[in-house]
Amino acid sequence: MGRQKTVGVSVGGVMVGGGAPIVVQSMTNTDTADIDKTVEQVAALHRAGSEIVRITVDRDESAAAVPKVRERLDRLGVDVPLVGDFHYIGHKLLTDHPACAEALAKYRINPGNVGFKAKKDKQFGEIIDIANRYNKPVRIGVNWGSLDQELLTRLMDENAASPDPASAEAVMREAIVQSALLSAAEAERLGMGRDKIILSAKVSDVQQLIAVYADLASRCDYALHLGLTEAGMGTKGIVSSSAALGILLQQGIGDTIRISLTPEPGGDRTREVQVAQELLQVMGFRAFIPVVAACPGCGRTTSTTFQELAAKIQGQLREAMPEWREKYPGVADLKVAVMGCIVNGPGESKHADIGISLPGTGETPAAPVFIDGKKAVTLRGEGIAEEFEALVHNYVETRFGGGAKSDAAE
Ligand code: SF4
Repeated sequence: MGRQKTVGVSVGGVMVGGGAPIVVQSMTNTDTADIDKTVEQVAALHRAGSEIVRITVDRDESAAAVPKVRERLDRLGVDVPLVGDFHYIGHKLLTDHPACAEALAKYRINPGNVGFKAKKDKQFGEIIDIANRYNKPVRIGVNWGSLDQELLTRLMDENAASPDPASAEAVMREAIVQSALLSAAEAERLGMGRDKIILSAKVSDVQQLIAVYADLASRCDYALHLGLTEAGMGTKGIVSSSAALGILLQQGIGDTIRISLTPEPGGDRTREVQVAQELLQVMGFRAFIPVVAACPGCGRTTSTTFQELAAKIQGQLREAMPEWREKYPGVADLKVAVMGCIVNGPGESKHADIGISLPGTGETPAAPVFIDGKKAVTLRGEGIAEEFEALVHNYVETRFGGGAKSDAAE
């Protein structure tokens, strides 16, 4: 699968585009002025695997907090680049708070609300000037919820006067793409290099998003940030984002992704990072954590042992990864199988690096374990789960603990 070659952009040392691995990013939902909570959440997102974290910079208090957040993160050893999300008054906040401008690794500008009428170009230009002065990249992030209304109206009027008018949806898509491209051209005119510009064009409809990005990618070679905006909660958000982003990534489009999930009340913000990683991993673009293959279970087993064991092993692997990533290079490629009965159990387990086939209903209460495709041991009795966990850990230590080659995907 070839990636579309875009111009690479360094975001605080993390390469986006230009053939670099697809970058996972996320965004906080704390009030940035609340330094404690923001530092805590950025650190949690980074620990979960977010390689860039965006924070809201919406007023003086949050702009003033940005350098302090950066300082605290540095002291904690959390070296993730911070991106400032600016709307309406970004030019003013960046001008009035030079330490904020310096501390951020990138500025996100929404061309639909950077300013209106005569002020629009001036205020957009001010942000680009500041970015140039501090040598920072920008993301020109169009969102159809805040699309440049003057541009849309002009394109709608032109379309209405055309002898062969396009659909309103097609005009809307064209306005989104043009808004991104015209703003990027303006940034370049103001002296910004192409290696400092990332584009995004987010909508909340899956088919529209695919059409917009396919068009955008065919008309430029700027690095592209992918995301389905307002994807929603729970499975709906995960499925919608995965469907849209999966198709685009498969077409070689997209250099960095964010999964915009609405957390359940009190839910964990890091879920969006986990989903982004899993999407990239199941598609074979990157490896982040070992994969656990588990069968869905059926009438051949009424036992929930394999579900519990699979969940436990997956949880342990995820928990251990921040440490294992350093200690066991290449461990992210590990494949574990936890299967419910003899039908597919031994076969699937043989395909994994280490797998267990638990006994189904009526089968002899024995669980063969396969290591590197060969039956290694058969576990019996009450302690099967604990013994298998120990075998997984031993396998990791033996295979990845001896200075194995570093994981290219990481
Ligand atoms: S492996 Fe066995 S228990 Fe699991 S889904 Fe297949 S037949 Fe059912």
